[in-house]
Amino acid sequence: MNLLDAVRSNIEQEFSWWQRDARSVFGSNTQLPLSGTIDVDVAIVGGGFTGLWTALVLKERQPQMRIAILDAYRCGDGASSRNGGNVHGYWGALPTLLPIFGTDKSIDAARLGTLAQIRLREFATAPGRDVWWVEEGYLRVATSPAQVQKIQEFIRIARDLGVDSTLTRLPQTELRNLCNSPRFLEGLLFSEGATVHPARLAYALRQAALDAGVQIFENSPVKHVRKGSPNKVETAHGAITARDVVLATYTGTMGLGPVARTTTLFSSFPVMSEADPEYLEKINYSVARGLADLRMFTHYFRRTKDGRILMGSGSGPLELGSAHNSEKLRRDPASAQRAATGLQRFFPGMRGGVVASWGYPIEVTSDRLPYFGTLADARIHYGSGYSGHGVNATVIAGECISSLILNQKDQWTTSAFCARTRMTFPIEPFRFVGGTMVRDAIVRCEDAEDAGRRQPLIAQAISNLPRVMGMRVGTR
Ligand SMILES: Cc1cc2nc3c(=O)[nH]c(=O)nc-3n(C[C@H](O)[C@H](O)[C@H](O)COP(=O)(O)OP(=O)(O)OC[C@H]3O[C@@H](n4cnc5c(N)ncnc54)[C@H](O)[C@@H]3O)c2cc1C
Repeated sequence: MNLLDAVRSNIEQEFSWWQRDARSVFGSNTQLPLSGTIDVDVAIVGGGFTGLWTALVLKERQPQMRIAILDAYRCGDGASSRNGGNVHGYWGALPTLLPIFGTDKSIDAARLGTLAQIRLREFATAPGRDVWWVEEGYLRVATSPAQVQKIQEFIRIARDLGVDSTLTRLPQTELRNLCNSPRFLEGLLFSEGATVHPARLAYALRQAALDAGVQIFENSPVKHVRKGSPNKVETAHGAITARDVVLATYTGTMGLGPVARTTTLFSSFPVMSEADPEYLEKINYSVARGLADLRMFTHYFRRTKDGRILMGSGSGPLELGSAHNSEKLRRDPASAQRAATGLQRFFPGMRGGVVASWGYPIEVTSDRLPYFGTLADARIHYGSGYSGHGVNATVIAGECISSLILNQKDQWTTSAFCARTRMTFPIEPFRFVGGTMVRDAIVRCEDAEDAGRRQPLIAQAISNLPRVMGMRVGTR
């Protein structure tokens, strides 16, 4: 297969493959835009997973609550329909969380992730929902000796914390029974893990919100949110007054004071292959389990129900400050190429090429956990910082933001997701310049490791800078 040419010549830039598939099945009708003035209890700006889950959780807790969602386009057309569809909580994040939060808060975060996973399962498997939910665990694979060492570290930490039942080490012989790639040396199977068709999930959540009585206004970009009592949310042709406002605008929240210094803009680029179910059967990759290698800028991947592989590269460009609309976060041939190369390396026998490729921004916090809060002196709430891990975490968002709105002190609002001190990144332009240098160096070192070459000395020195400076992020 010639992936390189396919990436150049056959790219769907505007929509992801998921969005095209969902539109071809369910259509693309939209709700009417906002016109005139209405009053509600809660106005949610942004109808992705965050906004939709918040509306659904609020309606469940208080069925009489009047809720409106406004979206600039069609609900779900942002990151929620452009991701890899790998769904898991935080058991696999313990090595990152532990040094920052200690044992109790780290395990607590993982436990809340499990509650979110249960809720997602219940939603996705309800009768009549065809969202391609497959729950077969989440597999991390080592593709270099350095990554094998990381597996050992995962196991040591899980044992020390007494949570080793959450994972199973798979030597190469056993790994081959699940996915026989010539590049995989060893595996670690987390029992909590699923895959989903993200755009179909977005359609289903949007429909569930409408069925629950949530008002949805689409093609209604919000121009201003005026703080007050009540707050006022304004579009070009209408306005909503609301006691509470939720800013569920994904990277759009990066301009907010509490978000700006603790979050930085990266980007991620998936490619989708042609269908080749026979080959996937031949290499024992017969169920749509999600996988990722153990690079810092991972290759994340999963098969689909119809026998394709989505391969994503989390190594896209950074952007300065809150410039989330920048073109390079959506179109970067080098990042798409890295994803396509990963597909070719891991699955060399796959027929056909890449049929779709897209890119989108990712907002990464300094500790890789999302954060939900309320602006000072205002009933305006926000969520941010999913760090490329939002399908499960947006359910946590729905719970946390609902509790903030209802002034409830509970397991959500007292958790690290709402109550923690977040480390700040350096100010711009140092964050962008330094971050780009370190990212490039890490990509070069990890490419060398994967190819069995020595790491370039200068790149190795630069990639170690965050650790030398005592930072806990950007470290390998
Ligand atoms: C390429 C990629 C791969 C990923 N892979 C995975 C994965 O495999 N697993 C995983 O768990 N997570 C993954 N993620 C992360 C996940 O997709 C996100 O964290 C999650 O979708 C965030 O949901 P959201 O509702 O906050 O954002 P969005 O879905 O982007 O929703 C925000 C909404 O706000 C609307 N909006 C913005 N501004 C305005 C305005 N002014 N007025 C009105 N509406 C507005 C937008 O139109 C949009 O619909 C990935 C992300 C990307 C980009």
